[in-house]
Amino acid sequence: MKTRTCDVAIIGAGSAGLSARSTALAAGAKVLLIDHGPVGTTCARVGCMPSKLLLAAAHAAHSVQNAHRFGVGVLGGIEVDGAAVMARVRRERDRFVATVLKTTEFLGEDEMLRGSARFDRPMQLIVDCKDDRIHVEARTIIIATGSSSRIVKPLENVPQRVLTNETIFELQTLPRSLAVLGAGPLGLELAQGMARLGVKVVLFDQADKLGGLRDPATLEAARKIFGEALDLRLKTEILSAVETDSGVQLHWRDANGVEHRQTFEYVLAAAGRTPNLAKLGLEKSGLTLDEHGVPRFDPATLQCGDNAVFISGDADANRSVLHEASSEGRIAGANAASYPKVESSPRMTLLAITFSDPNIAAVGMSYSQAQAANTLIGEASYDDQGRAKVFLQNTGLIRIYGDKNGLLLGAEMIGPAVEHSAHLLAWCVQQKLKASEVLRFPFYHPTFEEGLRTALRDLCKKVGSLHRSEHDVIVLGPAS
Ligand SMILES: Cc1cc2nc3c(=O)[nH]c(=O)nc-3n(C[C@H](O)[C@H](O)[C@H](O)COP(=O)(O)OP(=O)(O)OC[C@H]3O[C@@H](n4cnc5c(N)ncnc54)[C@H](O)[C@@H]3O)c2cc1C
Repeated sequence: MKTRTCDVAIIGAGSAGLSARSTALAAGAKVLLIDHGPVGTTCARVGCMPSKLLLAAAHAAHSVQNAHRFGVGVLGGIEVDGAAVMARVRRERDRFVATVLKTTEFLGEDEMLRGSARFDRPMQLIVDCKDDRIHVEARTIIIATGSSSRIVKPLENVPQRVLTNETIFELQTLPRSLAVLGAGPLGLELAQGMARLGVKVVLFDQADKLGGLRDPATLEAARKIFGEALDLRLKTEILSAVETDSGVQLHWRDANGVEHRQTFEYVLAAAGRTPNLAKLGLEKSGLTLDEHGVPRFDPATLQCGDNAVFISGDADANRSVLHEASSEGRIAGANAASYPKVESSPRMTLLAITFSDPNIAAVGMSYSQAQAANTLIGEASYDDQGRAKVFLQNTGLIRIYGDKNGLLLGAEMIGPAVEHSAHLLAWCVQQKLKASEVLRFPFYHPTFEEGLRTALRDLCKKVGSLHRSEHDVIVLGPAS
């Protein structure tokens, strides 16, 4: 068996692994990247980008369907060409993937092994390549193996009819009907996208949750908004799935205990993601694992215990979004290269966005943390907001959490284009600004961001720090 030695071995050439590689290389380390493929990153290949391409088509269809509400007629009605929609998704997706592949396609065997890695013993890996089995001895190892869709038990009987994010974008045309299991951010985005393109969609979740929201008020707003727009079945239990000639028959029990059966062409598994750790031989790694089998690690250094092993991206099941995967890759790459010198890095303020319409976003401290810390809540509804009314998008709610001095700590929001307000607020939370300080920044009129200003003013009122001039704007200003 051949043996390779290196300073830093990185398992996984996804967003976390690639960013770890460039950071470790820049620090002068000899780096070996290992990936069994398909390469191209989850984000570009089967995640962020193809899902947003599908949503872009869906929102275009929705705009046309709603044009009559502005007095704009569409002659001949709307027609969705499913094959053309899916072809564009793949064509543009392939362009994003091609850009990523440029970073690895010319790497020789001394820089990248194309095979599956697992621990043989602490600090030693076995990599099963196509024609070879290679031992890798590394000074430090970074685990950046990503995550995969969780397939709930009843779906194990119907593999031919189960779609995941790995397969849904390969459909040659849109399905006639789709059951989406899991109403978290990924399930909600794809359910709404498919429904707006004319697919008969039912969105299920065993909990009463939607879009990752945790604040009861935003959650209630979301249930109302999406309950009107989608066939939404929360608090349901999927009892069985049986393959039929035309698809898959799902049998479920609803929130009232009533049982139902319905046949769908496909079922999309969107009920959570599991870190790709099961095949890594972690039992031989010498690492301490938590109750879910994830190595225990320090989020500030990404080091696993006192070992020369680091973990980053979706593999650590913490902050599973793209910008965090890249950031964790940088932290892990820098520490792996400088090991045994390991430095803590301040982490970014949490930011999570669901690109549904309306958008959903969470910033910083969660609702339960806010409750535990006795925070005050500034609130604003979009129901009567100027810009939102202009565009017939006047629905949603912002809730901002602040301490007794108005220091911004977190927020949840659902509303038109709140992806932008969520960014602004995340930056302010990270800068440790108070609501009253943010109100000194310009807010253009009429924008959706004026909804953020209204919630900030409400927080200031509760804190008792709203200035006289701000009161005047509230009284005199237009609906904002
Ligand atoms: C449908 C969908 C939509 C999403 N939308 C968004 C979004 O809009 N915004 C956002 O911020 N995030 C989004 N995400 C999340 C985001 O895509 C992930 O957080 C991010 O891609 C994770 O990157 P990673 O490097 O950890 O994993 P990956 O990119 O999956 O990389 C892991 C790599 O490890 C390799 N590997 C695994 N095991 C082994 C092994 N044993 N040996 C060798 N190689 C191995 C794999 O082949 C893979 O290349 C979305 C995810 C999905 C699924």
